[in-house]
Amino acid sequence: MIKKLALSTLVLASSLFASNEVNVYSSRHYDTDKTIHKMFEEKTGIKVKVIQDNADALIKRMQSEGKNSPADVFITVDAARIQRVKENNLFQAIESEYLTKNIDSKLRDKDNQWFALTKRARVVVVRKDSPLANGIKTYEELADPKYKNQIMVRSSSNVYNQSLMAAMIAHHGIEDATKWAKGVVANMARDPKGSDRNQAKAVAAGIGSTAIMNTYYVGKLAVSNDSDKEVVSKLNVLFPKFENGGTHVNISAAGVTKTSKNKANAIKFIEFLLSKEAQEVYSKGNFEYPILKEAQTAPLVASWGDIQDDTVTINDLGKYNTDAVKALDIAGWK
Ligand code: FE
Repeated sequence: MIKKLALSTLVLASSLFASNEVNVYSSRHYDTDKTIHKMFEEKTGIKVKVIQDNADALIKRMQSEGKNSPADVFITVDAARIQRVKENNLFQAIESEYLTKNIDSKLRDKDNQWFALTKRARVVVVRKDSPLANGIKTYEELADPKYKNQIMVRSSSNVYNQSLMAAMIAHHGIEDATKWAKGVVANMARDPKGSDRNQAKAVAAGIGSTAIMNTYYVGKLAVSNDSDKEVVSKLNVLFPKFENGGTHVNISAAGVTKTSKNKANAIKFIEFLLSKEAQEVYSKGNFEYPILKEAQTAPLVASWGDIQDDTVTINDLGKYNTDAVKALDIAGWK
């Protein structure tokens, strides 16, 4: 009898345990995320299990796992990629009053299949002693021959550049956007190579004067070792705008998977990622911009200047991704 009772208690306990978790597939690879997941675990008692890989590998993995996939939540960076998850029919609509009430409709899917978690701006950094140091006002002017041998940027295989190009296409059409990309290529100080961080280092080292990069990498360098700090001390962060718009912003985003076994936990988890406390940790720890209006942007991020978001929608960044890849190739952006 006692044995039977103990066994059934064990079964009950293990089934409770099994449901007291949330399985996350994430292509975000930052320590800040671990901190935020821990905060969620401490607050709710729900265990967060993360599988971290690049977005396309995670999409493939979910497709091959089918309805047996353990994933409850999918997190990725970049507008085009998050829409790729939706197009592959891997998300379900999230019913959450908190999310629909607090998250701007421009920063979530129209069917509520994903919600943006953070914003990142793709801007330029310029060496302080360069004549261009305060001069760059638009993305369009980066194609002006006056910047010959000045510009550095990573390869066009990188989604951040693809989304920037998608925005250029949304503003100007594919023909003019391709001309622009050709102009940028003609102004490059070297062939595209390395990460965003490498571009900042190359600017500081004087290889060119200007780099296109995401803001949060400036923050990461600013809190890194002494030589990285010195790199940042040599740079101005400028916020170019499109001629008829604002500064290019991209997102990271999360959704609940179609086959989630822990749907309630998954929603609770995403709501937490979009709570004021988590949003401020994203900003302080990873130097991104919060999505939630009440959340404060970290002082270092705010110190670079005010940002006026571009008018091109997240949806358009996904829509023009294929055109952007083709146009960058035609332009010879390696
Ligand atoms: Fe990144």
